[in-house]
Amino acid sequence: MAIRSARGVAVDEILTTDICVIGSGAAGITLARCLDGSNTRVIMLEAGGLKRDLEAEADSFHIEQVGDWVSNPIEERGRWLGGSTNLWFGRIALPDAIDFAERPWVPKSGWPIELSELDKWYPKAASILEVPHFDSFDLSTWPMNETISAFAGGHVELQPFLWSGAQDMGKVAKPLLERSRNVMTLTDAAAQELIVDESSRVDGVRVVGPGGRTFVVRASQFVLAAGGIENPRLLLASNERFEAGIGNQHGNVGRYYLDHPRGEGHGRIDLRGLTQKQRDAIAFLDERVDGPFGTTQLRLVFPEVMQRSEELLNHSLHGYLVCDEQTSAGFGSYKRLRGHLGGSGLNNGQDLLRDLVEMGRHAPELARLATGRATPTKFVVVDQMEHEPDRESRMTVDHRNLDRFGLPRVSLDWRIGESTRRSQHRMHELFRDAIEDIGITSFSSDVLDSSDEVELIDMKHPSGMTRMSVSAADGVVDPDCRVHGIDNLFVAGSSTFPTSGHFNPTLLIVALAVRLARHLSELQRTSGRSTLRQQEQSLPASPH
Ligand SMILES: Cc1cc2nc3c(=O)[nH]c(=O)nc-3n(C[C@H](O)[C@H](O)[C@H](O)COP(=O)(O)OP(=O)(O)OC[C@H]3O[C@@H](n4cnc5c(N)ncnc54)[C@H](O)[C@@H]3O)c2cc1C
Repeated sequence: MAIRSARGVAVDEILTTDICVIGSGAAGITLARCLDGSNTRVIMLEAGGLKRDLEAEADSFHIEQVGDWVSNPIEERGRWLGGSTNLWFGRIALPDAIDFAERPWVPKSGWPIELSELDKWYPKAASILEVPHFDSFDLSTWPMNETISAFAGGHVELQPFLWSGAQDMGKVAKPLLERSRNVMTLTDAAAQELIVDESSRVDGVRVVGPGGRTFVVRASQFVLAAGGIENPRLLLASNERFEAGIGNQHGNVGRYYLDHPRGEGHGRIDLRGLTQKQRDAIAFLDERVDGPFGTTQLRLVFPEVMQRSEELLNHSLHGYLVCDEQTSAGFGSYKRLRGHLGGSGLNNGQDLLRDLVEMGRHAPELARLATGRATPTKFVVVDQMEHEPDRESRMTVDHRNLDRFGLPRVSLDWRIGESTRRSQHRMHELFRDAIEDIGITSFSSDVLDSSDEVELIDMKHPSGMTRMSVSAADGVVDPDCRVHGIDNLFVAGSSTFPTSGHFNPTLLIVALAVRLARHLSELQRTSGRSTLRQQEQSLPASPH
């Protein structure tokens, strides 16, 4: 079926298929990979092309901030084949059992499915993301040192971050998508609106192609896999039959916005004056070790029993070592240049020149870094936190203000409650106590030492705005990820998470997409719809 550009689709043309997947990021590509080779015809729509288009991305993904949220990097979402996995760091973390549990001290907590239900989908998800040893990490294999023992025997637990080998899912899946018999990937095809018929089924999706030409894809099932912000945006944008948007009969679409508040540098250890043994001891929280479980890094988390007894949110702490040389303007220039060469495409000619000059001025420091002669002077703490679902933490869309693809623009009001800050405070206390036990007293924490609120930024993990629930009154999708009240519309991605713990979301997104693919195949089979005949799938003419 191959990968085609929507350039070849005529105005008002109607393409027909069995399943239409909207979005080709982690969730969409997983669905395509799982459905590939079956008798089900699939069209996967991708708003972007095969390469990044910064202008279209800036226009369509721009978000208006509401409230006192200070940083706005959430706009950084990938809008081309592979989605945000073109930009992600590949860090993998597993949810804890408590993340799925109903916790009396966390309003609106509790997933309608058990975490153990996902056990059977994780192995496939881990193979797609190339994390072979995702469930077998064994702390005793880690090169132990004094601090690890201090932490391991103390009040906090140690858990690993793992790394995905599939850094860019679009690139990895491209050969498979190109030769797929039954999955057609249609790029430059931005879904604009879902069309619902009088029996409350989605009949088609209106798509905007190059030059603003619109056409329609009809299917028996539709999956929104457009990302944590675009999924609710499309539901709200589709207001022809239901004024408030699809699945929004209880006003839940776009509410309960979650991310992972990240604190960087709120805690610091001055390493000067420490013994080598003490330095080595703290360095493990910065260390990525290549071993039997691939690349791993340790972080500190609250044990479940402590979360319960002290009514804390889930929270993880790790960090990194910094040399004085890394704080120079020359190092900043080097990082920008490296990003540019790596394909971020974010620098213009003037910036490049300025960065080169700056690097020249700081050549001695850069040389010391490059040759390993720079000594770390500081350990910087990174907090990766959970926040509780809050109905007022939400996005809205403005139907009078459209982007170039005809989608209403988004405003986002991110609310982080007191329990996140209380949990961060407790983690810093425990960290300070643990390192004092091995004689390190140079930890300073803005969280502990000041009454001012520290600045938290998001981690580009938008979640929660089409949350999973048993009843329509409490959420947007049911435990099968089907939109309440709409028989043939499903959602894949972190927008379905009712709570999001502190874990990096993509492995869970992929596991849920594997599960959804199985469910859709089953529905196709039982409805007798999977009757693929090659010629039935309409093919646009324009290959890439
Ligand atoms: C800089 C950065 C670093 C990250 N690091 C990590 C990490 O280390 N670990 C981790 O677990 N997660 C990380 N993430 C998050 C991770 O990338 C996402 O969790 C994951 O990609 C989400 O998958 P998705 O398929 O739901 O959405 P996406 O991957 O964002 O894909 C959505 C796709 O849908 C397309 N689309 C959007 N709207 C439409 C439309 N109207 N019509 C058609 N197509 C549309 C988009 O163009 C995009 O290709 C990071 C994200 C960023 C930005």
